[in-house]
Amino acid sequence: MITRFAPSPTGRLHLGHAYSAALGRSLGTRWLLRIEDLDPGRARPEFIGGILADLAWLGLAPDGAPLVQSERTARYDAALEELKARGLVYPCFCTRADIAASLTAPHGDAGSAYPGTCRDLPDDPARRASTPHSWRLDSAKALHEAGGVPGWREHDGGRFDGSAAMIGDAILARKDAPSSYHLACVVDDWESGVTLVVRGSDLRPSTPVQRLLQHLLGAPEPTYLHHRLVTHEDGRRLAKRDSAPTLLAMREAGVDGPALAAALVTGSLPTGYRLADH
Ligand code: GLU
Repeated sequence: MITRFAPSPTGRLHLGHAYSAALGRSLGTRWLLRIEDLDPGRARPEFIGGILADLAWLGLAPDGAPLVQSERTARYDAALEELKARGLVYPCFCTRADIAASLTAPHGDAGSAYPGTCRDLPDDPARRASTPHSWRLDSAKALHEAGGVPGWREHDGGRFDGSAAMIGDAILARKDAPSSYHLACVVDDWESGVTLVVRGSDLRPSTPVQRLLQHLLGAPEPTYLHHRLVTHEDGRRLAKRDSAPTLLAMREAGVDGPALAAALVTGSLPTGYRLADH
């Protein structure tokens, strides 16, 4: 089983990341680290060092060197070019505010709120050359080509069926960022040979569009483990921006990292935290 941990270097890691990493490590005969640093507005190099230090403290050693997405943009370009050649994407000139959510906030339906403003514009190479634009998946065409939304297997044996309503015209590339989360994730999981995608259940809404992209690009189907999220005892979500103690703070407070990682794998959380119901 090849698993991976794919944090975005937009802040210090917290207990939820440790849970995801420990679970992925425990299930993988190979466990890969991928740095998802494609958002130029939020990713910061110093947080990459923080991720490496936190994992080392937990005693979780990735197999091989980390894959860094900002170094791999040619791979995402190639996938996008293929989709362009097949008429499955279209340029979108809508404003940054409309599309800001697509990059590193893969939470929520993938582009389903997009009203389709640019879907049927006539091709205008001059406008494309002069105006910043993104590229969106033409989901209706893509679904037609794929014969529907491919479902997926969960690690516990369950099978999810996607539905067309879960897929929107997701952004696959943006002028200031060469690839969206979805496209880069699909290309990287494929090229890294990931067979089990371990990630939080907050990312489950991303899976239908990623399965569709896998299908369109001819990538094999991984199994998914969308694990329960770590919350505060009162159910509040941990977030990088709230007061959730970082792993750094826990390390400085003298917590034993490897013991913590081992406990997390068994579902045992430190006092004050619990796993959400789903
Ligand atoms: N980079 C994403 C995050 O930190 C995780 C993406 C994934 O595991 O597919 O939320």
